[in-house]
Amino acid sequence: MSDDARRAQYAAVFDLLAEVYGRPVWRSHGPPLDELIYTILSQATADVNTARAYAELTARFPDWPSVMNAPPQAVSAAIRSAGLSNIKGPRIQNALRHVLHERGELSLDFLADLPLDEAQAWLTAIEGVGPKTAAIVLLFSLGRPTFPVDTHVHRVSLRLGLLPPRTNAVKAHTLLAALGPPETYYAMHINLIRHGRELCRARAPLCHICPLQDHCDYYRSTAVRAADA
Ligand code: SF4
Repeated sequence: MSDDARRAQYAAVFDLLAEVYGRPVWRSHGPPLDELIYTILSQATADVNTARAYAELTARFPDWPSVMNAPPQAVSAAIRSAGLSNIKGPRIQNALRHVLHERGELSLDFLADLPLDEAQAWLTAIEGVGPKTAAIVLLFSLGRPTFPVDTHVHRVSLRLGLLPPRTNAVKAHTLLAALGPPETYYAMHINLIRHGRELCRARAPLCHICPLQDHCDYYRSTAVRAADA
């Protein structure tokens, strides 16, 4: 598929998803450092567990310096509901130390004014922070034009054909961002996740009731296979 065809497909998918799920409107999720901690907690767990762990962490510790300086076991205990707490606890404390060491204060507000590629590079230099986490912090907190790619966004985009086959998740961040204007990134990200959870599930996607059938490579290929059988 040509780049122009993919851009047209992106626009069509964007409109259809907005019709079905609505068009989520961006509003800042909070300071970027808070978002970084929240996103580290969210790695490999469900939203409800992330929210519970974040609430517990911020209830037990009055501020980020207290989290940074706490005994590691105390942080891990506070975030137990997020899972992998013995990895995420040290990861959060290391991230806080990294920010303080590099910036002299526990704040990531400066990322709002850094060129985008520098902001992404700055965040991914923190141990345990990959392109997805960096993109979430920059988009959700600061409204910077990044396109976060989680497992749902990756799977649905590959099936639709928005991404060339076998595109890895890291490359997908750049390729998806090139398909539409920045003002669509937030709503498209949210709606692709919702679609991946509700219809385009990892196993047994519900293609027979999917509104994206006419724009989906996977649907076309399975329909052809079924017709040939
Ligand atoms: S038609 Fe099937 S594979 Fe394609 S987006 Fe819909 S649910 Fe996913």
